[in-house]
Formats: sequence, C-alpha cells, structure tokens
Amino acid sequence: MDTIKYQLTDNQIPTSWYNLAADLPELAPALHPGTGQPATVADLVAIMPKELAEQELSTEREIEIPPVVRQIYAQWRPSPLFRARRLEQALGTPARIYYKYEGGSPAGSHKPNTGIAQAFYNKEAGIRRLATETGAGQWGSSLSLAGAFFGLEVKVFMVKVSYHQKPYRRALMHTYGATCVASPSTETAAGRAILADDPDCPGSLGIATSEAIELAMNDPFTNYAGGSVLNHVALHQTVIGQEALRQLDMAEDYPDIVIGAAGGGSNLAGLAFPFLGEQLRGGHRVRVIAAEPEACPSLTKGRIAYDFGDTTGLTPLLKMHTLGHSFIPPAIHAGGLRYHGIAPLVSQALQDGLLEARAVAQTRCFDAGLTFARTEGIVPAPESTHAIRVAIDEALRLKEEGRSQAILFGLSGHGHFDLGAYERYLAGELADEGYDQERVERALADLPTPAGS
Ligand SMILES: *Cc1c(COP(=O)(O)O)cnc(C)c1O
Repeated sequence: MDTIKYQLTDNQIPTSWYNLAADLPELAPALHPGTGQPATVADLVAIMPKELAEQELSTEREIEIPPVVRQIYAQWRPSPLFRARRLEQALGTPARIYYKYEGGSPAGSHKPNTGIAQAFYNKEAGIRRLATETGAGQWGSSLSLAGAFFGLEVKVFMVKVSYHQKPYRRALMHTYGATCVASPSTETAAGRAILADDPDCPGSLGIATSEAIELAMNDPFTNYAGGSVLNHVALHQTVIGQEALRQLDMAEDYPDIVIGAAGGGSNLAGLAFPFLGEQLRGGHRVRVIAAEPEACPSLTKGRIAYDFGDTTGLTPLLKMHTLGHSFIPPAIHAGGLRYHGIAPLVSQALQDGLLEARAVAQTRCFDAGLTFARTEGIVPAPESTHAIRVAIDEALRLKEEGRSQAILFGLSGHGHFDLGAYERYLAGELADEGYDQERVERALADLPTPAGS
C-alpha cells in the first residue's frame, strides 16, 4: 500500500504563532500569589525574559516567529502529515485517519518547538543558564538541545521515578551538555523539604518545577524555562496545527475530530488551537478531544480553581482544572502526562465547550501503541499512545455506525527511549494504576485561597 504523506516546503513554515487568547471570549488572568492581583510582566521577569513574559500575557492573535527560530525549525519542520491507511485497513474502519508526526525533531518530540524559541529569547536577554523540570525526559532533552544550539547552560530536575525508568533520556541530556539531577534533590530547599517528609518520594513534575524555579529566583543569570502549561508554550506549539491546516487542504479534507494527548496540554493546544481559531471566526466546526491518563485525570476529575503550577507554591496562581498542586500521581510510564493541572488555555476551552476530555487506562494505551507500531511502523511515545487510543476508539465507533469522518491526531513523539516499558507490557508486567480519589481529595483540600478573594 502506498504511503500517503503530505509534505510542505521550508518556506511554508508558519511565520507567526497563533494565540487562541485573542479569540476566546474570556480567559482568567494568572494571579500574583502574594497580592492576588493579575500577574504583570514585571512579576514574570524574575524568572523569564521580557519577550516571553509579554507573550504569556498577550491577547494579540499573531506573534511573529523570529527568523533565527524559523531557520532552526527548518531542520525538522514542516513536520509530515500522514494518512494512516494501514491502520484504517487493520481496523476495517470507514474513517479517514490522519496523524501529524512531531517525532522527527532531534529530541524526538514536539517540545523543541518551544525549547528553541525560549532559548533564543533568553540568550538575547543575556541569560547564561536555564533551569527546568522534566518528567520522562522529553522536555529536558529538548531544552538541552536548545541550550547547546544557543550556548546556554541547562540544569534539569528530572522526576526521580523517570530518572530511573528512562536512563537513556538522562544520557541524551548529558550528551547535549546539560546537567541532570533526580528530583526531589538535596540541591534546593524545596527538594530537601519534600525528602525530609518522604525520603522515598518518587517525585512529580510539580516538585521538579519548584526546584527549577527556586534556582532561577536565586540567580539573576539563571532563568526558568517551562515545557508545558504556560500560555507562551502553548503559543509556540501552534506551528503544528497551522501546518496541519495546510496539509489537510492538500488532502482536500478537513478533520471532524482532532485528538491530542494531554499532560500539561501543549501539544494538544498546538495541534487543535489553529482549528478552534477557524471555528471561532466562523469556519468549520471540529470536535477536539483531549486524551489524558486515568491515573492523573485533571480534565475529567479535577476541580476548576486557582492553583499553583508547582508543588511548593512558587509560580503565579493559574486558573485551571487541577487535582491539587500537592497531588503526586502514580508512577505510570507516560511520565510526561504526570502533572496535576493543565494549561489555563486548554482548561478555558473545555469550560467553553470547545473541547472534550477522555481518560484512558495505561494498558489500553500500550495496546493501541502496539497496533500503531505494527501498522504504521512508528513506535509511539507512551504519552502519544493516549491520543492513538482515543483515535482508534473513535474510528471503531464510526465503523459501528457505518459513517466516514476524518480524524486527525497528534503523534507527539517517538518511543525509542521507552522500549523498556514496551518490553514490560509485552511480558504482561504492566498494570493499570487506578484513580486514587482519596489522595486527590486530600490534595484538593490544600488548594490556595487567592489573597483578596
Ligand atoms: C511532554 C509530552 C507530552 C505531554 O505534554 P503536553 O504539554 O501535554 O503536550 C505528550 N507527548 C510527548 C511525546 C511528550 O514529550
């Protein structure tokens, strides 16, 4: 069967990022945790350059991509859009399934789309070192790559359970010249406090974020770089959906359903927001589905509230669906999805009825990952298998209904560093980590009360 690939040329790399905030009726502002007032550029420049702080608060629809960033994007962008013909055939579905593949970047995921942009603005601002958190190591390796390109030191706090589960991601960061420590670590007050309480703590993205922000706040030449959740991160990822719009145009098709795996929400935002923008400005309607892990279901089980982005409470307060900043998710293999909250833009889109959310169990995701690998050839990252699971379920539903619709999903990364997890799944050793309502309720009881509310 012929491969059907829709490939754009270098000069079709988008020239601007698309900001959904311009088209949403309303978006709750981030709040300064001390004053309870909306966070300002002046507040944010403590940990990020002015350009990124401005993007974080911007309601401009289009923000120009710096030419240097576009030139680096050209190494792997425009990324290919494939029609999943062999998968369709294996499922026997009348659905037309497309996927946008972000695993061709040097780090193997969508995350360099923002890593490169953030490193660029930090370098311009005279910063010497970037500090960050990483779960499975996708973001840490992406920022390490960007640091190598721009001559910036990179310090990564890697969630302890992943540090041990994914030794090769760690090695990749070192290969790019970054330093990487297991979080919680003894290097920060935040890490030491957690370890004093629980020496065996497996870590979480929230804890690692606290450690990285602490470093950035204590050194004027160190900034924090976030891999997801923040508005400017979602913004940078919109090159994905803008390209997909053009590629589906080449296919003379338009998606009825757009699906993305949701951890902090950035690849879903990047793929879906340009389509939602079309819809909000009077164009085609799409169903957008966020696929999240059953063990860490912020969108389907979380509360909409102001909460911290990290565990210690150093970030501005973000209004989002949250399981509580003190919630430590079970050690599932999709480490990049182990986050207590979700991007405020994605949360608002869910509240506005612009998207739906669905929680899926780990083993059903690995099963979908195997089906995909055996039909389409690409071994997906465990995070991406969540989107594949939902895409397959939708394709099977359409088969049952005898209807043909177009499904587009985001294949956010490859799983070459996750083969240990695939081995365990194949050996029947992977179990589902259920949803722990009691632990979530305890964490929700810890939600901050914004000053003045
Ligand atoms: C980090 C990661 C995710 C989850 O993060 P989002 O911000 O929700 O996109 C999903 N897929 C891959 C491959 C990742 O590396």
